[in-house]
Amino acid sequence: MRAAGQVVAQTLQAVRAAAVPGVRLRELDDLAQTIIREAGARSPFLGYQPSWAPTPFNGVLCLSPNEIVVHGKPNGRRLRDGDLLSIDCGAIVDGWNGDAAITVRVGEARYDDDRLVTAAEQALQAGIAAAVPGATLLDVASAVDAVARRHGFTHLPDHGGHGIGREMHEPPFVPNEPTRDAARHRLRAGNTIAIEPMLHAGGSRYRTKKDGWSIATADGKRAAHVEHTVAVTDTGPEILTATTSR
Ligand code: MG
Ligand code: MG
Repeated sequence: MRAAGQVVAQTLQAVRAAAVPGVRLRELDDLAQTIIREAGARSPFLGYQPSWAPTPFNGVLCLSPNEIVVHGKPNGRRLRDGDLLSIDCGAIVDGWNGDAAITVRVGEARYDDDRLVTAAEQALQAGIAAAVPGATLLDVASAVDAVARRHGFTHLPDHGGHGIGREMHEPPFVPNEPTRDAARHRLRAGNTIAIEPMLHAGGSRYRTKKDGWSIATADGKRAAHVEHTVAVTDTGPEILTATTSR
């Protein structure tokens, strides 16, 4: 899973650098496809079709601009100066999965977007810090939620992180807000989970767009989505999708 996580991290780093005004979303996905393939990895996203989806997914990245929170499809849309783009990437190496997301500001960033992305990143770090042996998923969710609330942002309801390993999506559901179920799930060393806050400034209502995949805020407010795959270990949480500087 470390190997898969590194492919994800390197892909996200390259796509972040390529996400400039004028570039089409499809071109970012093409770049990611090349990196994943050349790393000897496969994509868990390409062709993925959960029960609710009308069509198999058409890329290796979810690309979710502005009011789209998650699951945006690579298409011919060109990035514009000031866009806020969530980039979600997965990779499979030797049958093991990695899954991570970043939210990038394209060109000149707006002040409100800086606040939103900072809050999402801090919420993610707080959730990761809480993922220690003996803690419950309620501890993780409460840590994520506390940061979101402090900054005055709203979660995307009904969505959260997940267990990850041989499959990209495994039990348990890892919520971003406290739930009763979360208190019943205790973490142990060796567990691997994806933690993924999805924050926005407006109300909590959302809608699925006509493509059957893209989830957008109902009021059109912008959203940020960040994610890491994390291993729970006796020496603390290990971020498997972190970019190692070398
Ligand atoms: Mg993801
Ligand atoms: Mg995920």
